[in-house]
Amino acid sequence: AAEEGFDLDEVAEDLAEAGHGPLPVLAVVGRPNVGKSTLVNRIIGRREAVVEDRPGVTRDRVAYEADWNGRRFKVVDTGGWEQDVLGIDASVAAQAEFAIEAADAVVFVVDATVGATDTDEAVVKLLRRAGKPVVLAANKVDGPSGEADAYALWNLGLGEPYPVSSLHGRGTGDLLDAIIEVLPEAPAVTFGDRVGGPRRIALIGRPNVGKSSLLNRVAGEDRVVVDPTAGTTRDPVDELIELGGITWKFIDTAGIRRRVHLTEGADYYASLRTAAALEKAEVAVVLIDAGESLAEQDTRIVSMAVDAGRAVVIAYNKWDMLDEERRHYLEREIERDLVQVQWAPRVNVSARTGRHMEKLVPAIQTALAGWETRVPTGRLNAFLGELVAAHPHPIRGGKQPRILFGTQAGTKPPRFVLFASGFLEAGYRRFIERRLREEFGFEGTPIQVSVRVRE
Ligand code: GDP
Ligand code: GDP
Repeated sequence: AAEEGFDLDEVAEDLAEAGHGPLPVLAVVGRPNVGKSTLVNRIIGRREAVVEDRPGVTRDRVAYEADWNGRRFKVVDTGGWEQDVLGIDASVAAQAEFAIEAADAVVFVVDATVGATDTDEAVVKLLRRAGKPVVLAANKVDGPSGEADAYALWNLGLGEPYPVSSLHGRGTGDLLDAIIEVLPEAPAVTFGDRVGGPRRIALIGRPNVGKSSLLNRVAGEDRVVVDPTAGTTRDPVDELIELGGITWKFIDTAGIRRRVHLTEGADYYASLRTAAALEKAEVAVVLIDAGESLAEQDTRIVSMAVDAGRAVVIAYNKWDMLDEERRHYLEREIERDLVQVQWAPRVNVSARTGRHMEKLVPAIQTALAGWETRVPTGRLNAFLGELVAAHPHPIRGGKQPRILFGTQAGTKPPRFVLFASGFLEAGYRRFIERRLREEFGFEGTPIQVSVRVRE
């Protein structure tokens, strides 16, 4: 009876959509003002149906879902990235680096009315070295007369330039066909479905929290940090490290060990690296310096891990630096500023003395287990039924929205879809999320709850 009035085909479609596996990632790269954002909007079209409520999420999304002729993928818009903090060349290089590390294919956008600039040539070099498939979009070709400009871009050596007008849609179909042709069906970085493969850990945190010290400690050897050159783009290095009798893959250890000294925009650059590492990881170990007050940058990095949907472990490092007073404030800080990850296991370690290193692995395993938890539909609905009966949604405008049924649409992290007879207020959705956690655990993992409203 709960399903009364539902079109089951539609529901199935919704579920297929919400429960999709990992999608390949397309990055859109190019100089400012060439039309990247316009192209991204064109590619994602009108598909933004899901009303998603992810408590604690405030950051704007840069990854959108798209589909072309039934092929689904994620598009990463780098258009908003070129802040004033970096010069044009550095920002475009950073985009390219992100694309190289985290994307499965790249659309390189050039303004055909301007032609290839030195910056464009430099990006081409980076992209070529990466070996990821690249499709060249010659943008702002609004009519046939612009096509000659597009063909001049053969000179870049990236193969056929696709003349498009992102603004008007001209040629974008052919461009999308070319993209689909080179985009792998599944992302190179897959989540957990490689049976027996090592689990992937991103060790993240602001500069000087002790990432490289911790890495050296767990890797059991001291390595020299080489090549302090700023802004150089090189291949990331993932290292296999045995810990607690298990082999783990630590993502982008080169980035952890490297000392990047940019005069400007170092934080910005570091956060791009963090984003790229998170994209590849399953679990994030977020290091925080126990000896210092929690900084805005710490909470931002925590948010990045949560927003990326990764399992999260909070590691308070430099525990050897703690005195009684600091310890007192630390507990208060955690309660006040880390509420968004109250569910994350916490370890208090010292990379210097080796304190509590043995607690790291169990915490990581707990977080991964939460991340992979699946709640059977029957159990979920029994729970929702009782919950809603005991705590109905407040009446609004004479109506009382009801949750009709729910299902877990996916794992890694757990994603739930609730079908409701009306709009559910944010407070009520947060209440549901809290109760879901109380009932089913989900230690160490963000969970996502979307609501579909059926009239
Ligand atoms: P981004 O900085 O690379 O993301 O560039 P935007 O997407 O913000 O576009 C920069 C400017 O170029 C905007 O004014 C767009 O309207 C314009 N633009 C983008 N695509 C086209 C196009 O195909 N033709 C024309 N004539 N203008 C375009
Ligand atoms: P990263 O920038 O996050 O990689 O941080 P580093 O590993 O380079 O560490 C920054 C500084 O903190 C160095 O001087 C380390 O020796 C020091 N450090 C790292 N871990 C600890 C620790 O557990 N205790 C203390 N007292 N110092 C530490």
